[in-house]
Amino acid sequence: MTQHCRNLILILGDQLDAQHPALAAADPALDQVLMVECAEESTHVWTHKHRITVFLSAMRHYAETLREAGWTLTYRDLDEGLSHIVEGLGGAIAALQPEAVWVVRPGEWRLLDAIEQHCAGAGIAFRLFEDSHFYDGPESFAAWARGRKSLTMEYFYREQRKRFDVLMDGKAPAGGSWNYDADNRQSFGKTGPGDLPDIPRFEPDAITQAVIEAVNARFPEHPGQLERFAWAVTREDAVAALRTFIETRLPLYGRYQDAMWQGEPFLYHALIGATLNLKLINPREAVQAAEQAWHADPEHYPLAAVEGFIRQILGWREFIRGVYWHEMPDYKSRNHFGHERPLPAWFWTADTRMNCLKQCIGDTIENGYAHHIQRLMVIGNYATLAGLLPADVCDWFLAVYVDAVEWVELPNVLGMALHGDGGVVGSKPYVASGAYINRMSNYCKGCSYSVTQRTGDKACPFNALYWDFLARHRKALSTTPRMRMVLKNLDRWSEEEVAAIEATAQTHRDALDVAVG
Ligand code: SF4
Repeated sequence: MTQHCRNLILILGDQLDAQHPALAAADPALDQVLMVECAEESTHVWTHKHRITVFLSAMRHYAETLREAGWTLTYRDLDEGLSHIVEGLGGAIAALQPEAVWVVRPGEWRLLDAIEQHCAGAGIAFRLFEDSHFYDGPESFAAWARGRKSLTMEYFYREQRKRFDVLMDGKAPAGGSWNYDADNRQSFGKTGPGDLPDIPRFEPDAITQAVIEAVNARFPEHPGQLERFAWAVTREDAVAALRTFIETRLPLYGRYQDAMWQGEPFLYHALIGATLNLKLINPREAVQAAEQAWHADPEHYPLAAVEGFIRQILGWREFIRGVYWHEMPDYKSRNHFGHERPLPAWFWTADTRMNCLKQCIGDTIENGYAHHIQRLMVIGNYATLAGLLPADVCDWFLAVYVDAVEWVELPNVLGMALHGDGGVVGSKPYVASGAYINRMSNYCKGCSYSVTQRTGDKACPFNALYWDFLARHRKALSTTPRMRMVLKNLDRWSEEEVAAIEATAQTHRDALDVAVG
């Protein structure tokens, strides 16, 4: 370790930005970089092996690019047994005696807090850089949110389109509409998706192989297997993955973005969440690539598909990050419905008779990935209906997906999927009976439950749980205009039918209490 440096730049595992703002302000002759691997990042939630490997391999590849660019780098790897990133920071401060520590805003509130506290305790200056990877930062979001009764993504998104001049025709949205969601909800029908485009695979190089060996040795009991690991871990991989998506899957991405099919976990999805969230590619690159494709060939790239993709990045992703920093730290402990049931053990094994959950959790364990409707309308929907403890569910989502970082996972799961924030992210709970899953997938065909039955041993658990959930929360939900119509259905049923629904739901919940992990 070289003695003494001016500024010590701590780069975290999800900050692998080629345009890193602290590096852009630093001088390689005077300032040094610190990167830290530690087991705690993989064990504070029971992290999937693919997620651990993506982060560590991408960090090690990024470290190589820094060395090649002439930076003096202290890299503390897993073998050094550090328990926490702050332990690595403390060691580097003691060795290098920097005048200041520089950090880009981390993706987790707890990490920012721990780093700030450590620097304050050590009496060392601390400089926080905003993350230029995003279109905008927490201050700007707070200004937008100020004085609003509710935070509605659609209004935020429209302003983003105007501010950054994306898919605009002068002052109007391209094509005359801000949103083409109605065109983007098709299922595959009885025949299924047919031939799907190949998904790019990035075979492990020597660096990734070494990470795979380390992960298998240190985290053997964690979920997932690494034999077929092929996620993008470098900027070159990330750019290639984006290009392949634009060329081969974007045209049908919109139409089938909500569809599911057994044995087809990837379909037309972009699969760039991890590379975006590790900052290997910039969201502007993804948005521009999609918009340019539409301009170049609007016949081949329907506006509904392009707009749907851009909304996820320019709208939803930025909105969700804004909510995270606006609402933390107490956001994490919210539990609007007071749900307390622990996570069933089969969330880690997919060993359940409910075929939709078996497939969606099975895909997750196999690949460290499931697409957004599998996450939201199968797994999240079930967690809400079954009354699972939001903190357990959030920890699970953070642990198992290769793209999961807390700023994006928490509002998506606690807010959107579980409605645990009471309506900050979504104006109503995203809950549905088995009929929705049956319409959007072929899962029900291979299920031992009957999706058309509401009560009894054979009844699809989603049905009884759904109506029981609505009945239990009727009073609170009736204040939401979008729920009133569906709540009226409860009045159609006799007392006996309502009692049978309650009994079926309770039988399912009782069985869950035996299956806690
Ligand atoms: Fe899922 Fe119900 Fe369909 Fe079975 S019948 S796959 S539990 S929705």
